[in-house]
Amino acid sequence: APSLAQFDPELAAAIEAERVRQEAHIELIASENYASPAVMAAQGSALTNKYAEGYPGRRYYGGCEHVDVAESLAIERVKKLFDCDYANVQPHSGAQANAAVFLALVNPGDTVMGMNLAQGGHLTHGNPANFSGKQYKIVPYGLDPATGLIDYDEMERIALQTRPKMIIGGFSAYSRVKDWKRMREIADKVGAWFWVDMAHVAGLVAAGEYPSPLPYAHVVTSTTHKTLRGPRGGIILTKNQPEDFNKKLNSAVFPGIQGGPLMHVIAAKAVAFKEALDPGFKIYQRQVIANARAMAKVFLERGYKVVSGGTDNHLFLLDLIAKNITGKDAEAALGRAHITVNKNSVPNDPKSPFVTSGLRLGSPAATTRGFKEAEMIQVAGWIADILDAMAVGADVESVVNRVRGEVERLCARFPVYGPLKR
Ligand code: PLP
Repeated sequence: APSLAQFDPELAAAIEAERVRQEAHIELIASENYASPAVMAAQGSALTNKYAEGYPGRRYYGGCEHVDVAESLAIERVKKLFDCDYANVQPHSGAQANAAVFLALVNPGDTVMGMNLAQGGHLTHGNPANFSGKQYKIVPYGLDPATGLIDYDEMERIALQTRPKMIIGGFSAYSRVKDWKRMREIADKVGAWFWVDMAHVAGLVAAGEYPSPLPYAHVVTSTTHKTLRGPRGGIILTKNQPEDFNKKLNSAVFPGIQGGPLMHVIAAKAVAFKEALDPGFKIYQRQVIANARAMAKVFLERGYKVVSGGTDNHLFLLDLIAKNITGKDAEAALGRAHITVNKNSVPNDPKSPFVTSGLRLGSPAATTRGFKEAEMIQVAGWIADILDAMAVGADVESVVNRVRGEVERLCARFPVYGPLKR
């Protein structure tokens, strides 16, 4: 059979260009990472060909003996990793894992409380454009605008007033430690399920570097591709729940919202969980936090506002309102310098979500390629150079061009999968 490059040069060129982009650009999108070659090998394996509706040992198809091994390995490893006793590793993505929780625990029309998207929540926590916002009555909670921290007293007040059936913990853009215990207490006061979507911090939790929600939440979901550094996908976990509760979750995934599981992705999840069980993963996650803090410090020293004043995890938000720079323009300028970030709304943002006045910066991918504090401080300095030029109306493009050269040299010193051919 012809190789991919022979059969489909157009597509092969796009893949190669993306590989080059990943090597040659600095990735600061907080939700991204570089999966290992072992993870990618499992994902690119013959397991992609197999139908396996059902669960290990209880399939609707023959020939599942080997994929059963793969799925059982993934389940056992992830249970060990997060010290829990139930795991479903079949959700195709984080959004699918979240859809399954909604389907299992609440009914359409029920009131559900989630973190405001504009203040750090995720689309699937009740955004009006998402199924979660369309099918359930969403009451949002958010930040104290003065501190940038979650206002738990306000959250409790809203919960007592609106009596949600479920409260969602978890976030896509919050740089502090969430108080899972307090949130469970609020949920108990109103008789609500407490569900934590730990997608962003799962790797930190696995390494013991961020408090685990599992002792407090009725159910926990996550993606597997962010700080956890596995293939794109989702998982659902519980601890000390009755068997019928876990069965409901299984049924919600299949046949509730999915058909055949992606066995190649589940195999890749098993590899990623094995990697995360290795002691080296803890060292990596510690560096992720140290790197995020090192960057945040540079911005504070250079007169930039960091939401909540710093970070205790892998990300933080830069608030550019006072600099009169939009997130959209900043993202574009940094992109021209080969530094990849995403614009993000900040508390009291006067701009729309398509423009915003902030940037979300994260350290997981850069840390995987080997950056330590010294490199992160350099990168943050370059970002501040570009933002400074934008703020004062200086010649932004000459700064961008200088930084792009620096970025190229730094990336060449820290190859992700191997040096680029020149
Ligand atoms: N949950 C949270 C907190 C997220 O940040 C994300 C992704 O950004 C998701 C869920 C969705 O994951 P996926 O993109 O795999 O559907």
